[in-house]
Amino acid sequence: MTTQKTAIVTGSARGIGAAVAKRLAEDGLAVAVLDLTEESGADTVKAITDAGGKAVAIGADVSNEESVNAAVAKVVEELGPPTVVVNNAGILRDNLLFKMSVDDWDAVLGVHLRGAFLVTKAAQKHMVDAGWGRIVNLSSTSALGNRGQANYSAAKAGMQGFTKTLAIELGKFGVTANAIAPGFIETEMTAATAERVGVPFEDFKKAAAAQIPVNRTGVPEDIAHTASFFISEGAGFVSGQVVYVAGGPRD
Ligand code: NAP
Repeated sequence: MTTQKTAIVTGSARGIGAAVAKRLAEDGLAVAVLDLTEESGADTVKAITDAGGKAVAIGADVSNEESVNAAVAKVVEELGPPTVVVNNAGILRDNLLFKMSVDDWDAVLGVHLRGAFLVTKAAQKHMVDAGWGRIVNLSSTSALGNRGQANYSAAKAGMQGFTKTLAIELGKFGVTANAIAPGFIETEMTAATAERVGVPFEDFKKAAAAQIPVNRTGVPEDIAHTASFFISEGAGFVSGQVVYVAGGPRD
């Protein structure tokens, strides 16, 4: 009998994180649904447990060290040591550089990069102890540069360097680290962008799809499928990679 592995998926109350959490539960893992508040993770937990899986909601701000350490300790207590981490929590604070405030720079770097660093640092000892682990970090096609996103593109490019370094440092402990760089995925994040630029979401999606080789926008399950591959047993020789899941080539 193999013991059930435990995963932490940050920002999994909704969107891509929720789809990843559900998919990992289907894959047989116990899932810590980590988001800003415990209450916000309730729907994802219910979907998982209704389908026969195991999950708990944990409230934590990934950019806060104390909050992250307490959350990881709670995961250990309630589900067992986490050996899978998906760093997905994210925010947008878009603006052209000359209008971007220092607070908006710090907030975005804080959630994406500092958050991924803190969660990975708190969880890695459990992976090292187990001699096995999987880290998946959410980057973005914006890592290649995107108007109005100096903060976000810097964070998402940073996620790629962070991932490659984790792969190098942790490989000898049986731990892989990989990044997924999504293109346009239909979530509240892209809906908020449509609203900000004053375009109805359906029109915004149609315009985006016209630029995408497979002629459609992505859905959270497209990213969940890729995460499922990276965390699988068979992917143990795949590490330090960035996969663009964007309906076409990007880099
Ligand atoms: P989303 O719908 O906005 O969901 C993000 C989740 O992260 C929310 O539940 C949010 O909680 C949570 N979160 C925000 N700050 C947090 C913090 N400090 N601590 C813990 N949780 C926090 O976003 P999404 O579209 O699913 O995106 C998920 C990831 O994929 C992000 O890293 C994003 O940058 C990346 N990505 C998305 C796209 C896309 O097209 N959607 C493309 C490329 C990359 P609240 O609801 O309470 O704010």
